[in-house]
Amino acid sequence: MKIHEYQAKELFKQYGIDVPKSILCEKREDIEKSISKVSIPCVIKAQVHSGARGKAGGVKLADSYENALNIANSILGMELKSTQAGIKKVNKILIEEAVKIDKELYISLTFDRANECIAFIISSQGGMDIEEVAKSSPEKIYTMLIKDKFEPLSLISKLGFDEKITIKICNIANSLYKLIKEKDASLVEINPLVVTKTADVVALDAKINFDDNALFRHEEIAALKDEKEENPYELEAQKYGLNYIKLDGTIGCMVNGAGLAMATMDIIKLAGKDAANFLDVGGGASSEKIEHAFKILISDKNLEAVFINIFGGILRCDFLAEGVKNAIQNLKINIPIIVRMEGTNKEEGAKILANSGLKFTVVKNLNEAIEVIRKI
Ligand code: ADP
Ligand code: MG
Repeated sequence: MKIHEYQAKELFKQYGIDVPKSILCEKREDIEKSISKVSIPCVIKAQVHSGARGKAGGVKLADSYENALNIANSILGMELKSTQAGIKKVNKILIEEAVKIDKELYISLTFDRANECIAFIISSQGGMDIEEVAKSSPEKIYTMLIKDKFEPLSLISKLGFDEKITIKICNIANSLYKLIKEKDASLVEINPLVVTKTADVVALDAKINFDDNALFRHEEIAALKDEKEENPYELEAQKYGLNYIKLDGTIGCMVNGAGLAMATMDIIKLAGKDAANFLDVGGGASSEKIEHAFKILISDKNLEAVFINIFGGILRCDFLAEGVKNAIQNLKINIPIIVRMEGTNKEEGAKILANSGLKFTVVKNLNEAIEVIRKI
């Protein structure tokens, strides 16, 4: 789960990390009042779940009260076209006091899955896209794998600051480490962490991602979820206990079991196409659940076809066929639907589809599925 910059900065404050003074504003009529509460110059920042807001015109410096009013009015409600997250409507802005920056740094902690530990990453090239820095000047990024106790001093010393500033950065690193562990975060990132002209060290940006599977033990974190930022279909799927993730391809797939779903996406790729989604309907899905799943699936406007790949174990093929038939009858869709069913009550399932009066291509095996999908 992602949260907004302003929410992440509140958490930073709880962990003793300095952030600039700021006011959150959600309504146009509150803009004047909000700006009068911070000192000028200030920075107006779009609060959307995306990085690179600055480049997209979502972070702007205002050097007078009038200027701040104009900028705030133009950013609040705008559609931000970010390279990272597509088009995002700005429903909230953060009005933040401008900091006099001497140096911008990058600092983060995240999972290193290959090494099964947390990685601590710092760079003197803050404020930029870190993936770009990794490509163009990898020698400017320092990484430490935390296998045992977290002792960041040796790495931070490489940045070449005096002792006072080095210790301040160390304290921030230790706070971030505490935060990632205590709150079950999967990423904590400050880009940029700045050294100011007065030798303070302040977090100007804040990004925290949380492990969804651990949210049940952090009510206060789960409460930070902003449903407007989530994909509406993914939200709908969560309501019905379906694992659905929207992707960019054109072949919708409905599968039971995450492993089979991954393999199905590979098969689609093999046929020269891309999956439009990941959808695992789970083991014991009822025909109603299948119907909901199918409705969510085909609400995607990019679809060229749907591939249903089901291994009927706990999920019975006749339940599946019933659910799909109902969904299609109600929705009147006319894109090709390819079905591969194996397992419990497969014959009954095939009969339901055959007698439905609707058009399905039932394939016997995955090779046949590939051939059919290739021709779409
Ligand atoms: P994003 O990473 O989404 O573009 P940031 O919060 O990192 O957004 O802001 C982009 C840039 O704007 C920062 O790298 C920094 O140079 C500048 N900036 C952001 N907040 C402030 C602030 N309070 N004072 C001065 N400059 C700021
Ligand atoms: Mg940033």
